[in-house]
Amino acid sequence: MQLARPAAAETHPLHAVDLPDPSPGPGEIVLGVTACAVCRTDLQLCEGDLEAHKLPIVPGHQVVGRVEAIGQGVTGWREGDRAGVAWLGGADGTCASCRAGRENLCVAARFTGWDRDGGYATHAVARADFALRLPEGFDDIDAAPLLCGGVIGYRALKVSGVAPGGKLGLYGFGASATIAIQVARHWGCRVFVCTRSPAEQQRARTLGAEWTGHYDERPPDPLDAAITFAPSGDVVAAALRALGRGGTVAINAIHLDRLPEMPYADLWWERSLRSVANFTREDARELLDLAARIPIRTEYEVHPLGNANLALERLAKGEVRGAAVLRCA
Ligand SMILES: [Zn+2]
Ligand SMILES: [Zn+2]
Repeated sequence: MQLARPAAAETHPLHAVDLPDPSPGPGEIVLGVTACAVCRTDLQLCEGDLEAHKLPIVPGHQVVGRVEAIGQGVTGWREGDRAGVAWLGGADGTCASCRAGRENLCVAARFTGWDRDGGYATHAVARADFALRLPEGFDDIDAAPLLCGGVIGYRALKVSGVAPGGKLGLYGFGASATIAIQVARHWGCRVFVCTRSPAEQQRARTLGAEWTGHYDERPPDPLDAAITFAPSGDVVAAALRALGRGGTVAINAIHLDRLPEMPYADLWWERSLRSVANFTREDARELLDLAARIPIRTEYEVHPLGNANLALERLAKGEVRGAAVLRCA
């Protein structure tokens, strides 16, 4: 399912195309894709809110499949192995960020479904050293939503600095937040959730939130940390106002409408605003390991690959409960 020209989701911008079966270059593997989860970033790319790096492009960066072909020089993978491919599709390994263990900030990073064709497809090519092993205990459809929403939510938890037992606010409660809350509860955190949707508030309470409210309501206790998932600067400002001294807001958004002007007093007392950009392979390994041990339950609806436009449209309209996952084989 290929994007040639970004347009509103309801106009169904993806088109089914028949491409030659890919063969792996040096260091690459080819996956027979079984499942690919749908991320809000895919929607932003398809609608043009996130500028395309190349067109046409096959979106999708929460890819699960089986290794079907192995390129020259690849070690550690065999035909038939199950593999996951996520947003970070490659990094140079040599820049200052990579050498400091922050490959998520690599200036030469390449992203799956943005720079390279992704998983809205029957086959996908990936760099073997950026493919991920997936724990047992999750089938392919279950595992897919962990690969972006799960891992980025986990990195946001780390960036927020929340400590075990700390008070954490989650602003917005989509697929990523439903996974982050399960990790936070596993760490014994008290969790407060702000979202407009009554259904999402209900889901948050089911998953262990001790308080839920609207974006403009303030949780009953000052927060140690907050994560914002909504692509709205007003929500970031609301989260900042809910922080106690020294707290951090981690902004989990690749695209934000704007940042509103705000009084410095909201930031004073060493409060911090931090963005969360991508994630490292280490983040992914840690989250996948935690997901298997907790175990994390993901909620999703399944669509056949050919209905990818419908999945995007439902996401745009806020109709998806949890995550949407494409069944690709
Ligand atoms: Zn994503
Ligand atoms: Zn680098």
